[in-house]
This record gives sequence, C-alpha cells and structure tokens, in this order.
Amino acid sequence: MTETVSTSATTESVEEFARRARQWLAENMPPIDPDNPPFAVRAEAESWERAKDLQKRLYEGGFAGICFPREYGGLGLDYAYQKAFNDECIRYEMPLILNTPSFTICAATILDMGSEAQKRERISAAIRGDEILVQLLSEPNGGSDLAGVITRADRRDDGTWVINGAKTWSTSAFAGDYGLMLARTDWTVPKHEGLTMFLVPLAAPGITMRRIKEVNGNEEFCEEFFDGLELPADAVVGEVNDGWTVASRQLHHERRAVGGGSEFASGTGAENANEMPPDHVGLAEATGQGDDARVQDLAGRALARRIVKKQLIDHVGRAIGNGSLPPNAGTLIRLFHAETTELEVDTALAIAGTAGVVDEGDELSGMLDIGVRYLSRQTGSLGGGSSEMARNVIGERILGFPREFAADRGVPFNQVKRNKT
Ligand SMILES: Cc1cc2nc3c(=O)[nH]c(=O)nc-3n(C[C@H](O)[C@H](O)[C@H](O)COP(=O)(O)OP(=O)(O)OC[C@H]3O[C@@H](n4cnc5c(N)ncnc54)[C@H](O)[C@@H]3O)c2cc1C
Repeated sequence: MTETVSTSATTESVEEFARRARQWLAENMPPIDPDNPPFAVRAEAESWERAKDLQKRLYEGGFAGICFPREYGGLGLDYAYQKAFNDECIRYEMPLILNTPSFTICAATILDMGSEAQKRERISAAIRGDEILVQLLSEPNGGSDLAGVITRADRRDDGTWVINGAKTWSTSAFAGDYGLMLARTDWTVPKHEGLTMFLVPLAAPGITMRRIKEVNGNEEFCEEFFDGLELPADAVVGEVNDGWTVASRQLHHERRAVGGGSEFASGTGAENANEMPPDHVGLAEATGQGDDARVQDLAGRALARRIVKKQLIDHVGRAIGNGSLPPNAGTLIRLFHAETTELEVDTALAIAGTAGVVDEGDELSGMLDIGVRYLSRQTGSLGGGSSEMARNVIGERILGFPREFAADRGVPFNQVKRNKT
C-alpha cells in the first residue's frame, strides 16, 4: 500500500522516498553484514570522527535529520519516512552513536525548548555532522534527585553567568561540542523552582573534563568540573529559573530514546556488541549442554522475555500515540528493557559457567566476553534514571498512587538539610 502523509513537507510518498533512499544508500554508504556489523567503540575518538564523516555523507545526500524541521537543517518529514529509511539502512554502516544522546535527547530538547538561534545553530550543526551534543545532568552528590543539583550559576549585572560545580557520568562528553547543563540559579525557592538549563560549549576555559574508568575497563563516561566558567546570557535554554520544565522534556525524550521510540534516531541496528542478544543456544552447544533440559529452560525463558519486550514496545508506543496511556508510560518500556537485559546476561553467564570468567587457554576462552559483559549488565537500570525511580514514576504518574514522601517538598532549597560538600 502506498502511504502518503499529507503533513509532511513533501509530495513524495513514503514508498517513493524509500526507493530513492535504497538507491542512494547502495551508491554512497558502506555495506555491512547486519549479523556481523562493525561496532563503533564509543570510548575511542576515531569512532566519533567516523560517525561525523558518515553523518556528513547523509547530509550531503539529503537523508539527514529526516524528522527535524527544514529550517533547522532537517527534512521536515513524518516518522513514517524515518521508519522507512531505517528499514533500508539496516544493511549499511550508519553513524548510530550520534543517535543518543545527541539527536534523540539533546537536539530534540533544543527543538522543543531552545531559542530560535539555538535551534538554527546547534541542531543544524549536529545534522550536518559538525557537532555532537551531550547531557550534563548528574552530579557527584547523586543523579536520582535531579532537581537537587548544586552546581551553581550566578548572574552578573551584565546578564552573563558564572558557573561553579561538578557533573558526572556524562556519556561521551569527551567527544561532545555542547552540553545541556542544569544548574541552580535561585537558592531561596523550593528545589524545582530555582533551576536553569544552559547550553555549554565544552571546550570553554573554566571546564576541566576527565574520563571515568569503569569496572569493565571502558572509559566512555566523563566528569566535568566548572571553575568560574563564564557563559553569555543567550546560553540559557528556555527561561531562567524554569530549567525543570526543560529537564523534564529532556527526560521525556530520554525515555523515548531508551525505549527505541524516537523519530529522531536514524538507523535501528545494534550500536555495540552489548546490545546484541547473547547467543544462548550457541553457548549451550559450545559448552556441551545443548541437550540439557535445565539449560534449554533457561534459554527459553530469556527468549520469551525478549519477544514480550518487542511486543511491549509496540503496544506502549501505540497506546501513547492514541492517548490511552500517558507519555510517562515510556517508563514501562525502559524498566522492562533493563530487566530483560539483566536476565539475558545472567542467563548467558549461568550457561557459560566458569568458562565465562576463567581463561583456561582452551577453545572456551572466547566466552570471557560474557564475564566482561556481566560487569556492565546493570547500565540499563541506571542510565536515564534508575529502575527504582522508574517504579516511582509508574506508581505515581501512571497508576495514580500517592506521591512518595519528600522532606524537601516546598522547602526553600537553602533551608533543605543535606550533607556538607
Ligand atoms: C549507561 C549510563 C549512562 C549515563 N549517561 C548520563 C549522561 O549522559 N549524563 C548524565 O548527567 N548522567 C548520566 N548517567 C547517570 C545516571 O543518570 C545516574 O546514574 C542515575 O540517575 C542514578 O544516579 P546515581 O548513580 O547518582 O545514583 P543515586 O541517585 O545516588 O542513587 C543510588 C541508589 O538509590 C536509589 N534511590 C535514590 N533515590 C531513590 C528514591 N527516591 N526511591 C527509591 N530508590 C532511590 C537509586 O535507585 C539507586 O539504586 C548515566 C548512567 C549510566 C549507567
């Protein structure tokens, strides 16, 4: 069936667009084996240079920023066109690492909340493949209580700002050009009311950035220290002291991105090996347990969960779309995704047994990556807010349970008791 969407900035049908994309991809993008894609290592600078190069090709070919408005460098088309493009590009190397957080969270938030200049400059630079956007929200004090950030922004008489404080766990910030950074601008009002979001140029003097070494040896995350960082008045995103509205929008986009439901993601392939489902059957066979009923049961349970997850994404996505579930329902997908990942990795390690953690120098030592993967099995239940916080959102905002007690609710932030820093 030919699907023509009248709200789009084109008369080209989705089918015609897909046909044109198919031909262009074949002529311009590097083909891959979708079962064995060349994964980009996010911790390496070359991966980002490669991604920018691929993004530039998409832009020059007229296939970048499909759902972003034309005035900001995109194509202004509906999600149906992006989905059709995603189906076509699955066999080609794509700049997948630019999707999150740069496009799906940061550019999407700037599109909703930014000034006209911020939209024209930052979104189009990202779409052209010139810039990468990152998120600077979490602080060493804790990330769950996002409204409790203590990085401070003080306004000078001329309207410019001075920033002091620290952020942490910033995904890929070392490769970023600008970061969305939440800071406290009024300490005399309750915590949600005294926040402002800023767009921070990451190479500015006054920022010290360090890589964080994770337990699996990866060094993708960064921490940033702001010592008298100066920002112009127009670095504010949204309104001064209304940063919570911007942050809430950002979290909304994050939940959609993590659940795989963002129209701003281009390409849906696995970004790295950790996103590929472990091959439980292959593992069982390699360890001589292919006929073991208990192992078959474990593998079957993990497979069933994966199938349910796929159905849940479709179901919740549709329900949010038709209004039968609130937008916060994306949290259901995010929680289920985290739990499914943990079950899959736990199952893989249970099947691999000691081969997953001990290098005996034999043919099974290839399974050691299962052990390394196990070390980061919980990233999905922390990134974008922890699973406990997701349960709070589901309880309070979807099921309508009473709100959790908070000792700081309604209390001016400078009177809230907290640890000395
Ligand atoms: C893969 C990944 C990517 C990330 N990327 C970014 C990024 O790009 N930018 C960024 O700013 N941050 C990022 N983070 C940080 C992330 O947002 C935080 O880890 C998360 O918000 C939790 O904060 P925390 O680690 O400080 O834990 P804390 O907030 O200190 O929480 C500790 C524990 O207490 C529990 N807890 C806290 N409050 C409650 C409550 N009210 N009810 C029940 N339980 C509670 C939490 O669930 C958690 O188990 C990333 C994290 C990961 C793992």
